[in-house]
Amino acid sequence: MFYPEPIERLIENLTRLPGIGRKTATRLAFFLLNTKDSYITELSRSLTDVKEKIRLCSVCFNITDSDPCAICRDERRDKSVVCVVEESSHMMVIESSNPGHLRYHVLHGVINPLEGIGPDEIRIKELQDRIVREGIREVIVATNPNIEGNTTAHYIGEILKHLDVTITRIASGIPVGGDIVYIDPLTIKSSMDNRKNL
Ligand SMILES: [Zn+2]
Repeated sequence: MFYPEPIERLIENLTRLPGIGRKTATRLAFFLLNTKDSYITELSRSLTDVKEKIRLCSVCFNITDSDPCAICRDERRDKSVVCVVEESSHMMVIESSNPGHLRYHVLHGVINPLEGIGPDEIRIKELQDRIVREGIREVIVATNPNIEGNTTAHYIGEILKHLDVTITRIASGIPVGGDIVYIDPLTIKSSMDNRKNL
């Protein structure tokens, strides 16, 4: 049994969203069918706006509705340091831990030879250009501490080593509030390697 065509089409479109199966899509479709017109208008406008108004900042490649983005326009931030992240969402997390201090550079991915993603597919060249252009003195590489993130960090270290810039890597180890008993050996090793003076 099928629903009327417009409902079927809505269900079909909703199932294309990540994590949405037909059952959830059907529930959402009927919610939308029964909701107020004003909400439908607002929802469809926000869907259109996100495609029309959101673009990448020409400086840091963060997603933004104004270019340069608000972070790049913020004169109070330290101009000599840039924190390199994989995605805009990672940038938001780091920013929330230390608001108003850092400038960022969003790579939009990591080097992953198995998936055919090389350095030219992510914003590494732009990072290199930016360091020279802006006279950046320190690059904090905050890619994830996994194989791809470490490979990318290593590559960035290699291509920047002829420049007069300090390259640092975020530490990885035992989470705050964690218990050593439950930590895997690789993480323990990493935290031992990254130990610091008391
Ligand atoms: Zn920006």
